[in-house]
Amino acid sequence: MYIGIDLGGTNIAGGLVTTAGEIVSKISVPTGRERGSDAVIEDIYQVVESLMKANQTGEQVKGIGIGIPGIADPHTGEVIVCVNLNWYNVPLRAKLTEKTPLPIFIDNDATVAGVAEFQVAQEGKYKDAVILTLGTGVGGGVLVDGKVVSGHHGIGSELGHMLIGESLYTCNCGRNGCLETFASSTAIIHYAKHLIHAGRKSSMMDAVCGDIDKISGEVIFAAAREGDVVAVEVIRRLVTYLSRGIMNIVCTLDPEIVFLGGGLSMAGDFLLNQVKTELDGLKYFKATPHAKVEIAKFKNDAGIIGAAMYAMIQR
Ligand SMILES: [Zn+2]
Repeated sequence: MYIGIDLGGTNIAGGLVTTAGEIVSKISVPTGRERGSDAVIEDIYQVVESLMKANQTGEQVKGIGIGIPGIADPHTGEVIVCVNLNWYNVPLRAKLTEKTPLPIFIDNDATVAGVAEFQVAQEGKYKDAVILTLGTGVGGGVLVDGKVVSGHHGIGSELGHMLIGESLYTCNCGRNGCLETFASSTAIIHYAKHLIHAGRKSSMMDAVCGDIDKISGEVIFAAAREGDVVAVEVIRRLVTYLSRGIMNIVCTLDPEIVFLGGGLSMAGDFLLNQVKTELDGLKYFKATPHAKVEIAKFKNDAGIIGAAMYAMIQR
């Protein structure tokens, strides 16, 4: 039995997870990030305590895994940078170790979501795989020869920050041109608003009763499915840059498969089929096989399950 913690900008979600990757108990509390790291860490500990008390299985909890929305040093357990939480060099593991004797393992949330997808949803059948989580930002998880890798300095699987073009806005990493400024929900909302502000007429404005700030990823995809020209153009741009990003991953790692997860992956085949068509046109050495692309099976609980499985693997 392991505890998985999905530390997000909005909620701290925790679960008691079996070695087979099933959640037997789950709890979620608001992160309250404005209170600072010490208060949030105390709440993480309280979530751990509640889950320990909820453990009726008779099986011992052997470790805690934590997925964080930023960059962590998996060796020291320090959160190096987490823009969403406004955390810089926070010794997360050291502070929790003062409260609990359980071994604690920390890594990026997309990396642990990858562990959930690779080890549990896909039952470990892939040895070389990549996951791109397309949410508010774009995260990446990389599996090479059966091992999750984040590089020498812990910033290696930050696939959302690969440079892909000239963007309309600066990424939260402080740079212009990152994949996540083209292929996240934030990016497509930004681009849809950009076109509407430029005078383009779109049914999306009717869908949000004229309130442009209510345009969401769902609104854009729904309008694109109905053939709204502006929404189609927004999705077209997403597909173009996402496919370039995937092809850059293929040319670096040559994985067996690339999974698309996160909120935008809810668009399913509507998104996937456009990406596949685009990728066909981008293939190099066309006679050789290229990575498959699929929608990830895991949705909301990937963070909890992946964090727990990450602890199990690392322990
Ligand atoms: Zn960036």
